[in-house]
Amino acid sequence: MSNLQKLQSLYKLYQYRALGFSYAKTLNLNAQKSPSPKNSLETVNSLSKSCHLCDLAKTRKNMVFGEGNENANIMFIGESPSISEDQTGRPFMGRSGQMLTAIISNVLNLTKDDVYITNIIKCRTPNNRPPTREEISTCRAFMDEQIQNIKPKIIVCLGELSYHCLTKEYDTNISQIRGEIFEYGEAKLIPTYHPNFILRNPSLKRDLYNDMLKVKEMLK
Ligand code: URA
Repeated sequence: MSNLQKLQSLYKLYQYRALGFSYAKTLNLNAQKSPSPKNSLETVNSLSKSCHLCDLAKTRKNMVFGEGNENANIMFIGESPSISEDQTGRPFMGRSGQMLTAIISNVLNLTKDDVYITNIIKCRTPNNRPPTREEISTCRAFMDEQIQNIKPKIIVCLGELSYHCLTKEYDTNISQIRGEIFEYGEAKLIPTYHPNFILRNPSLKRDLYNDMLKVKEMLK
């Protein structure tokens, strides 16, 4: 498709949106089959420990690669490590981690050992500032390798940043698309609220639970 054709299609989509149309329920975000992994998860994990591809390496205590079942059907992808994750080198260790663990066991009837949990950014940002686009794209290769190795059936994007990073739909607000199911290569991708966001906005907890009920249905 030429650039002009792309622009014309984009223009048409904007027109449709102005007329009140919204996204289709299943949008194929990444139709091609995921390529075979270049390295085993263990190799990528050990390579990641000495990563100095961006300045976050200077301030991190530990790289937080991710953990869980390497044959998991579900992969949770959060945003970036915070202080407890930086100290321990493990994802979702703080209050948001407690909420995630509760969701996994109470809604999905699974344990953390049944799923795989990671973040789009593997190192803590100074003062937990939002990661930059450059940091996100530099770190992305690790996440792509994780997805290619684990081959999850379902990817749950925890929060807007995670959804933006995976889909490159940077203008989409999480509240507009949470709970919708998209194709992502051979996996289904479902975005939902980040547990931290729910801790600040507890009235939206029901939405997060409903999205997880959908995940449970998809597992059947
Ligand atoms: N801890 C993580 O590991 N990821 C987040 O997105 C938030 C807290």
